[in-house]
Amino acid sequence: PVVLGIESSCDETGAGLVRDGVLLGQAVASSMDEHARYGGVVPEIAARAHVHAMAPVVREALDRAGLTLADVGAVAVTAGPGLSGPLQVGVAAAKSYAFSLGVPLYGVHHLAGHVAAAALEGEPLPNPCVVLIVSGGHTSLLLVRDLARDPIVHLGDTLDDAAGECFDKVARILGLPYPGGPAIDRAAREGNPNAVRLPRPLSGPNDPPYAFSFSGLKTAAARWVEAQRAAGGEPHVPDAAAALQEAIADTLTRKAVRACTDHGIGTLVVVGGVAANSRIRALTEQRCAAAGITLRVPPLRLCTDNGAMIAAIGDLLVRSGAAPSPMNLSIDPSAPLEYAALSPLAAVR
Ligand code: ATP
Ligand code: MG
Ligand code: FE
Repeated sequence: PVVLGIESSCDETGAGLVRDGVLLGQAVASSMDEHARYGGVVPEIAARAHVHAMAPVVREALDRAGLTLADVGAVAVTAGPGLSGPLQVGVAAAKSYAFSLGVPLYGVHHLAGHVAAAALEGEPLPNPCVVLIVSGGHTSLLLVRDLARDPIVHLGDTLDDAAGECFDKVARILGLPYPGGPAIDRAAREGNPNAVRLPRPLSGPNDPPYAFSFSGLKTAAARWVEAQRAAGGEPHVPDAAAALQEAIADTLTRKAVRACTDHGIGTLVVVGGVAANSRIRALTEQRCAAAGITLRVPPLRLCTDNGAMIAAIGDLLVRSGAAPSPMNLSIDPSAPLEYAALSPLAAVR
């Protein structure tokens, strides 16, 4: 069947249509600009924007796919984790579509959606694979077998800030516009990464091999900026951006490749908004090639939040015969990533 995927966990309203692992069409609207002057997503503003954009975005995705609602055979929706108001809007919309069309509803985990995005271009996800999830809220190394059926093994997570959060916070310190990740990526093109010395956190021989820590990096960047100003100068933004990007890319890619070699796994999948970063993409390519590891990174437009990735995980669940969610499915703003389908328990929480 054609699976309609709906995403609204943060500031993107996304709808996508997937059938048998093939993306048929998608549309995304973002309330990002409305949050820019607050320096972060304001949940109430995001929720209102989802209410406003939801039906038009679904219509747009259908138009692009050359389909109508009557073609939809199942609906998948992000039920968590995320901001509760924004999640409520997506889940309410998904229930309305599923109920009125008489098709099954699947409440799914947002991060499983990010992983499934890597299965949309051609080949299915290899089983098993190591997945590096890097986004605004998460930095995790996972061991994934059958994404639709098996429990996901957490190899390591960040102990403090997520990589995207670090990009965003340092961008703010450097006076770059929100969202910070893309701004740092752009600024870094003109910078010299060796002009500023930044640490490589948790990279010593006795540190946990797959855990990350980024708050120290943020502090080190802030101290460097202060020192520049104290010395009467202004910080050279491109150099600082390049150094930060290099420190993050170096740490992420080294640990991800190590997770593959330690576990004898031949494929690394990198997903999440931060996977859009040009240096992270280049360095993972280089290091995976050197280690004989096959690298899978979704195309840029499928890296940040979107509905196609939610349709993709819904499609995997449907094809694996997973049980649909109950119609009283509720959101779970802090859902743990054990399974792609959110546990029916979420319905009674
Ligand atoms: P989560 O998926 O964890 O709930 P989220 O929805 O905020 O969090 P995404 O939309 O997947 O995350 O990614 C957004 C993050 O990606 C932001 O922190 C943003 O700065 C970062 N980002 C986007 N593009 C780039 C880039 N080119 N370089 C670095 N970071 C980037
Ligand atoms: Mg976002
Ligand atoms: Fe996300």
